[in-house]
Amino acid sequence: MELLKQKICAEGRIYAGDVLKVDSFLNHRMDVDFLCLLGKEFYERFADCGVNKILTIEASGIGIACLTAQFFHCPVLFAKKAKTSNLSDELWVSEAHSYTHNTDHKVCVSKSYLGPDDRVLIIDDFLANGSALNALIELCRQAGAEVIGAGIVIEKAYQEGGDMIRAQGVRVESLARVRSMDPEMGVVFAD
Ligand code: 5GP
Repeated sequence: MELLKQKICAEGRIYAGDVLKVDSFLNHRMDVDFLCLLGKEFYERFADCGVNKILTIEASGIGIACLTAQFFHCPVLFAKKAKTSNLSDELWVSEAHSYTHNTDHKVCVSKSYLGPDDRVLIIDDFLANGSALNALIELCRQAGAEVIGAGIVIEKAYQEGGDMIRAQGVRVESLARVRSMDPEMGVVFAD
């Protein structure tokens, strides 16, 4: 999506540890009008797929998930990062590794809110090694929900997540795909 690529080039900052910061419009301050355009783009790509639930993970996916859900007129369910080891039987639970914090944690959703009638579009801000997305797909698998696809704002296409998830047969639509980035050269897009 051209507009998004321009915004990343203008406002994105590349940090050590292979992290692209887009705090000015997505991950800290949120440019709601702009994020609505991204939500509409996800809607256009998945409009005829019968999506009836959007699933994301706290915290940074929630904003873009909500702004996407307004076009689908469906609820948003966000997976919580679990802090305790004694998790209730009322939860679907999977494991994820945090790319930005370099920690492992459990992610969970209530069994009341995810089940076999759900046709799920997963939305997230970034796709890097695919751990977050994998954990959300696993929650759907446990619940017997159908994964229609994943909508990602920024895919770092040089990392393994995109190929790994697509190899599972999951449709992944990324609005910007980064081929390489470094502080000198800036961001280069894959397509
Ligand atoms: P993965 O699980 O695919 O390795 O990483 C995806 C998650 O890590 C996203 O939910 C996002 O919050 C975070 N993440 C991964 N790479 C970046 C990055 O370059 N910049 C930012 N801001 N977050 C990232």
